This record gives sequence, structure tokens and C-alpha cells, in this order.
Amino acid sequence: MGDYWLYFPFVVVLGLLIGSFMNVVAIRILKQESVVFPPSHCVHCNHSLKPLDLIPLLSYLFLRGKCRYCRAAISWVYPAGEAATAALFALLYWQLGLSPELLTGFLLAAILTAIVITDLKSMLIPDTIVLAGMIFAVILRLWTHPLPLWDYAIAFFAGSGLLWIIAIASKGGMGGGDIKLFAFLGLVLGIKLTLLTLFVASLMGTLYGLVLFAMHRLQKKHTVPFGPFIATAAMLMYLWGDSLIEWYMEMIMG
Ligand SMILES: [Zn+2]
Repeated sequence: MGDYWLYFPFVVVLGLLIGSFMNVVAIRILKQESVVFPPSHCVHCNHSLKPLDLIPLLSYLFLRGKCRYCRAAISWVYPAGEAATAALFALLYWQLGLSPELLTGFLLAAILTAIVITDLKSMLIPDTIVLAGMIFAVILRLWTHPLPLWDYAIAFFAGSGLLWIIAIASKGGMGGGDIKLFAFLGLVLGIKLTLLTLFVASLMGTLYGLVLFAMHRLQKKHTVPFGPFIATAAMLMYLWGDSLIEWYMEMIMG
């Protein structure tokens, strides 16, 4: 446990930096801008931002959520994305320790943070983000894989295939972004946890729909972005899915 706290600050800072980068990726891809150019600027006044304006979390707090140059409000999504990524990194590090698999966990957290932002903002899960995730996931999986490689390969097709069938059956209730996201999740999670993620995400989505319905908030044409539910379920299953399966098996076997 002593070692844990030794590296803890580095993991949190890395999480804040990656979270900050994923914010930029998410916002710029939605606006169809390049991720690297132009340099960071205020979305309201276009004033370019100095390093002091770009410190994750701290700049937002010091500037009290307003642009230094035009005083326009900075979206709370930025600090929230940074804090969430840092918290997830710390949690992953706590669960996995300093291991090769930790990098896969970081990749999962980073990609999911970005797609939650884009899905909440624009009901979109951009191909670019998911494809980048797939490429990194394949590289990482060739290097480190707790399950046999074929398990991840099958999960890549099984998760997305199942979603593709649901998408056809529900006639547009499920987006193409969700399907590709599940292909990525397959590479990270393997078959069992991918299917469990689909089950848990659907359960959470349904419960949320029922709550909205009970509160008379659900209109007929109301579409709820499914991405945040998939992301939450995937993260939970990646961290504790195996324990959940073990617990369930013990319970039914007695
Ligand atoms: Zn500004």
C-alpha cells in the first residue's frame, strides 16, 4: 500500500492531463476541427489561451469558470471531464496496480470520457474517437491479454453484431456509434464482460426511462443518449464484472 501512495500523485496528474486532452478531442471533433491546430483558444472570443489558462481543473477554479479575456462562462464539462478521468485513473491504478493491463484500463477510461462528452453534447459517438480506441486496443491486447486473444477477437464481432441486430430490430433506436463502440469494448473486455456490459447498460437505460416516465418527463419522441449508460456499465464491468459473475455463480450454485 506504501507503493500505491508513492505513485498516486503521478497517476492523478496523468489522469488530469489525459482528461484535458480528451475534452479537446471531443469538442474539436464535434466542431470538425483539427485536434492539434489551431492551439487552444476560447470558444467564445477566440483569444488564444496561455499555459496558465490551461492547467486542468485549477485554471477553471482560479478563473471561477469564466474566460480570462471575455469573461464568458466556461462549460463545466471541461473540469468535470478532467476530474472524472483523474478519479477513474486512480481507481484503475488501485485495482490493477502498476501492470501492463493498467494501460488498457487508462485507454478505456480516456475513450469513454470523450464519448460521454460528445454523446451528451451532440448525441454523437464520433467514429474517429472509437477507431483510435480500437487501434490502441489491438496494439495493447497483442502485448498483454489476461484472456486468450481469440476471446477478444470474438468479442469484437459478438458485441457489435448483437447491437447491429438490435439496431435493425428497433429501427433506429440504436445508433451506428453505439455499434462501433461495442466493437471497441469487445477488444478491451472479452466476450463475457462485453455481453454483461450490454445487459447492465440496457438495464440502466430502461430504469432511467422508467424514472423519466414516472416523472412524466418522457415524451414519445424523446431519445436518451445511450452512450453514458454503455460507458458507465463498461467501466463497472471492467473493474468488477468478474467478481460479479463469481458472486452470482456462488449464489445460484449455493
Ligand atoms: Zn473568451
